[in-house]
Amino acid sequence: MLPFKLVYSDAYYLPIGDHVFPAEKYRRVRDRLIANGIAEEKDFLEPQPATDLDILLVHTPDYVQKLKTGTLSPREEMELEVPFSPELVKAFWLAAGGSILAARQCLTDRVCVSIGGGFHHAFPDHGEGFCMIHDVAVAIRRMQRDDKIRTAMTLDCDVHQGNGTAAIFAGTRTANALLPSSSTSTIQQRETAAGEKMRGADAGDVFTISLHQHNNYPRWKPPSSIDVNLPDGTGDDDYLAWLDNALSSGLRQFEPDLLCYVAGADPYKNDQLGGLSLTIEGLKKRDELVFRVARARNIPVMVTFAGGYAKNVEDTVTIHSNTVVAAKEIFAVI
Ligand SMILES: [Zn+2]
Repeated sequence: MLPFKLVYSDAYYLPIGDHVFPAEKYRRVRDRLIANGIAEEKDFLEPQPATDLDILLVHTPDYVQKLKTGTLSPREEMELEVPFSPELVKAFWLAAGGSILAARQCLTDRVCVSIGGGFHHAFPDHGEGFCMIHDVAVAIRRMQRDDKIRTAMTLDCDVHQGNGTAAIFAGTRTANALLPSSSTSTIQQRETAAGEKMRGADAGDVFTISLHQHNNYPRWKPPSSIDVNLPDGTGDDDYLAWLDNALSSGLRQFEPDLLCYVAGADPYKNDQLGGLSLTIEGLKKRDELVFRVARARNIPVMVTFAGGYAKNVEDTVTIHSNTVVAAKEIFAVI
């Protein structure tokens, strides 16, 4: 039995037909974990959908209304890059509910993995890049509303920049120290702009970190608290060094009550939508590094899966399953 819970539902499946996003990956990860003896049936928690009020903690009433009535414009549907349906809306409300559950559960178990979620390209007023609802942001705002946490840090290791996350939490937290940079990678920290508009009572409460391939979607990258812009072809060693650097820097500046780890599988070298060169072993080391730091500093960590478009879906399933294996290894040690 695992020393923590996994959040999963068969209804995490996204009804998007034949698509580069392998919607069946969630069920396959679950099956793999059970088949390999990593997890048992009783390790899984079944999430409930988020309520509309939860969704409205992040998204605009106008956008939520359009989703619930199926009245997105053709352009908005195109930007989403997945075919709209009422069933898809349900799946995203459930993903948000799963992230809320994972956030709540990790406060007692130190870590919790949702076998889904991580839809980091959703903005308050629109969806894009396969992401309709920002489940992680909804979870953070719900936990804050319930007075379970005050601050959170997002650590986004998907190959694509977390533009929705950066936009949602824009102005809430600025970084104040420059890291060493190299000629090949660049690291940018949001400047503390004089007169920068802070968003109401939430200002200063969420610190956002994104490590991503610079030369990739999204073209417009709103600034995170820390952005690490990696060059094409970055491999395991460089990636792990930059991750260590960015996470250490973030944690020197900010003490989160919750770490939201977006564990995208698409920095993998054989990914169809990514241009980095991490190996399956390197990606597992990435997960281990994050969990080791979270555990050492006693920061509860919730995990979501985000993207993964390996030419061979089995590789994506292996990378995501390894995230659970890494959590088991790090958090099982007394
Ligand atoms: Zn991605």
